[in-house]
Amino acid sequence: MKIMKFGGTSVGRPERMHQVKDLITRDNERKIVVLSALSGTTNALVGIGEALAEANKDLAKERIDTLHKHYLTFYKELLKEEAARSKAEKVIKEHFEFLNIILKISFNEAINRDILAQGELLSTKLFYTLLQELEINAVFLPALDFMSIDENQEPELHKISEKLKVILANYPEENIFVTQGYICKNHRNEVDNLKRGGSDYSASLIGAAINAEVVEIWTDIDGMHNNDPRIVDKTRPIAQLSFDEAAELAYFGAKILHPASIWPAQQYNIAVKLLNTMEPDAKGTTITAKEIGSGVKALAAKDGITAIKIKSSRMLLAYGFLRKVFEVFEKYKTAIDMITTSEVAVSVTIDDLTHLKEIVLELEVYGTVEVDNNQAIVSIVGNMIAESKGTVANIMDCLREYPLRMVSYGGSRHNVSILVEAQYKNDALTSLNEGLFEWKDEV
Ligand code: ASP
Ligand code: MG
Repeated sequence: MKIMKFGGTSVGRPERMHQVKDLITRDNERKIVVLSALSGTTNALVGIGEALAEANKDLAKERIDTLHKHYLTFYKELLKEEAARSKAEKVIKEHFEFLNIILKISFNEAINRDILAQGELLSTKLFYTLLQELEINAVFLPALDFMSIDENQEPELHKISEKLKVILANYPEENIFVTQGYICKNHRNEVDNLKRGGSDYSASLIGAAINAEVVEIWTDIDGMHNNDPRIVDKTRPIAQLSFDEAAELAYFGAKILHPASIWPAQQYNIAVKLLNTMEPDAKGTTITAKEIGSGVKALAAKDGITAIKIKSSRMLLAYGFLRKVFEVFEKYKTAIDMITTSEVAVSVTIDDLTHLKEIVLELEVYGTVEVDNNQAIVSIVGNMIAESKGTVANIMDCLREYPLRMVSYGGSRHNVSILVEAQYKNDALTSLNEGLFEWKDEV
């Protein structure tokens, strides 16, 4: 079986939804189709929740009505026949009635998550109605019946797998199953979600749960590029990546894939393909366990980074110092991305500033603390970077014009990470692009 996941832009317009229908009916393979909400919808739902959280019901109502209008034009372009149209009307009515009822009751976080779930419910129901109109056999598979997270918000892969296998066994003759990305139930049996961009994660979890042959992630770009196409002029898709390389790229800023979506595929050794809805025959990027080639394959960057330096003469010749420092971050559930050390100081970077104040206060017990905001991590990703002669020299040569705040090398054979002030990020990516790739034909 295969998984085919389509993102917001792939279902965001009626004609795109028709294209998705073409893509899922190109072969007779058994498949689970995972859909995101129509592009813009989840943002709009977040906006509705924010207005309600501020008790601004007028604004919330206005936002609900704007979104409602969008769906009322959408379904008329999507569907032609009266029967299908009236089904769609009912679906839209049901979900917008729900949003309007929420206006009248007291708002809380659980209700907010219910609001956020409406996008995927709407997109899948409308898509399923399209399949019915075209008399394409398919099964509607509510994600809330099988997708779940535990009290630590971690997906319960074993339970998901058991439930899905039972459900699928009920339909031995069917080839197309349609389900929602992003949404799930939590340990309190409430509606919850896998965080923004989580539909990729859903697809990969479903792939792992049923041991699929491949997880296809369909977006509006022809695979993972060797650099950020929004910033750098010349970029190109990378045909093959290993799970480790893809994880580094996704984590360090390649927006095409949710970083968490790598581990389920990697653990169960399921190939992940990044494909383009607009150019379905382009080869895209294939991510597998295979490590192919050596040297630099791609660059990515992550903004909004804060560097924290803890300097202490007590670190000199002491053991246990790093543990104490890391415990502070652990206490505040704040993940560290980069680390560099010298004999008397350690620098780390974080991107979640929720508890920065408390963290700094507690770190001051161990030494002088310096905080630098507005930093960016530029990551150079590839295979056997340390073993490829001259690679690091080339990287540094490209970056000679910029002050480098931290350099992390040797943590894995797939990555060199550099911390620069955010103002240098775009130029650093461009210089690296010119210096590391321009002369190559194939990446
Ligand atoms: N609709 C959700 C979002 O916009 C999930 C996703 O599309 O991946 O974050
Ligand atoms: Mg996405």
